[in-house]
Amino acid sequence: MHSNIVGGSTAKRVIACPGSVPLVQQMPPKPSSEYADRGTMLHNIISEILEKDLPGQQFIGTVYEGIIHTQELHDEKIVPALDAIDEIDPGQQMVFKVESLVDFGDLLPGVFGSADLIGRLGNRAIVLDWKFGDGVAVEATENEQLMFYAAAAMRTKGLEWAFAGASEVELIIVQPPAVKRWVTSLDRIQQFEQQLVMAVHKSAQPDAKLTAGEHCRWCAAKPICPLMTGEIDRALHRQLDSLPAEQIGQALEMADRLEGWISDLRALAFQMLENGKPVPGYKLVPKRALRQWVSDDEALTWLQEQGVDATETKVISPAKAEKLLKKSKTALPDNLVVAVSSGTTMAAESDPRPAVVDLSKMFSKLKGN
Ligand code: SF4
Repeated sequence: MHSNIVGGSTAKRVIACPGSVPLVQQMPPKPSSEYADRGTMLHNIISEILEKDLPGQQFIGTVYEGIIHTQELHDEKIVPALDAIDEIDPGQQMVFKVESLVDFGDLLPGVFGSADLIGRLGNRAIVLDWKFGDGVAVEATENEQLMFYAAAAMRTKGLEWAFAGASEVELIIVQPPAVKRWVTSLDRIQQFEQQLVMAVHKSAQPDAKLTAGEHCRWCAAKPICPLMTGEIDRALHRQLDSLPAEQIGQALEMADRLEGWISDLRALAFQMLENGKPVPGYKLVPKRALRQWVSDDEALTWLQEQGVDATETKVISPAKAEKLLKKSKTALPDNLVVAVSSGTTMAAESDPRPAVVDLSKMFSKLKGN
């Protein structure tokens, strides 16, 4: 269950764009995905292990929404997450509670969230969040989601012990295999709470401000957001070829936001059609049918009878081989693998990959000199 005003994962967006709250409230709930279900399953498993002090191995084979907790998944996600707890609390002195519902009481009615782990270690209150996705690496420093949980936990009945007399708060992201930690003061958390209160009050005003930025990426209201639709109109009417290069760089930033808007719009229209809601000018059609064998075994027998060799063997990829060799701790020999780029792609200047060097241009320049 999520707050329809603001929760941990939406705190950053609501503070940056208070006007997004009423817009997001108009959107239908996003259907769950395999990715989200896998995250929920891993959260449930680690909570059970920690809360009941159970051996992790007993969860191998757990099935949640059709997703199986395999040994491989366990080794990749749960084992390093448990190792992170040992690193944070080597002496096993930490008192903690997992999966706590935290809220702001009368200060912000209807605003709540679920904190993965709230703990106390010496003079330090601990707020920890598991991230089991493989996507964007999340930082702990100034992390709005963790500050939200800390601020709410400080006001939640039954969690006072974690903060009473504490002189600092540590915010931790465990995103296997990475562990990011940030120690801050109780004052910083209270300051964050003031920002959040102001944003929530602003969001209730009829003229709540909309501000576009990096936070739009996860905003469900993109398809109906006037700032986004305004950007579409402006983009369509602008003559890109008359723009100088610096402006094209700025336009690309805008394009990133538009791409997010377009994919969310498509997903929303698809969801509406699937639920029987008409979208004028659009309909659902079956995907292109690909032929397949009714029974592989019967097809194989028949083809062999016709004298056709119907099977093929393919060498697995270096990535798959590396995974299989992991168990025997054998490394792939360098001389067996070569990395061949399939071409060039465009990336922002901040991308860590080096820019492609055009050798032909370099040589002709040298010749000219
Ligand atoms: S898309 Fe961006 S600007 Fe529009 S409501 Fe969402 S967060 Fe605000």
